[in-house]
Amino acid sequence: MLKGSCLCGDIQFETAAEPQGPSMCHCSQCRKQAGGIWASAHVDDNDLTISGPVTWYAASPLAKRGSCARCGSYLFWKGNDEDTISFALGAVDGDTGIKVAKHIFVASKGDYYDIADGVPQEEE
Ligand SMILES: [Zn+2]
Ligand SMILES: [Zn+2]
Repeated sequence: MLKGSCLCGDIQFETAAEPQGPSMCHCSQCRKQAGGIWASAHVDDNDLTISGPVTWYAASPLAKRGSCARCGSYLFWKGNDEDTISFALGAVDGDTGIKVAKHIFVASKGDYYDIADGVPQEEE
């Protein structure tokens, strides 16, 4: 069981499912919203229990992004045509037991760091 929350605690989430596709996203939207790289993994919609007032923002027609209106934590990413939801690994309490499998949107990454962990990189 993984449990997490936003910084202020208003929003809690948990899943008993095995998270899939853990990644580090370097895209411009994650950079803006998270202040940098956003690490996440996804589970089926029905496998993530969320409590609390999530504020959803549609940054594009393709997906919406869930955050806490009070403390600003960026917690969730949900593709409109997908039956899965991504949650922020950084918001999980304690060890996750997860290792990131890929870097995505590397073409959009900032110039102030290098990726040197040997994990596969995707341009988009
Ligand atoms: Zn909060
Ligand atoms: Zn992103």
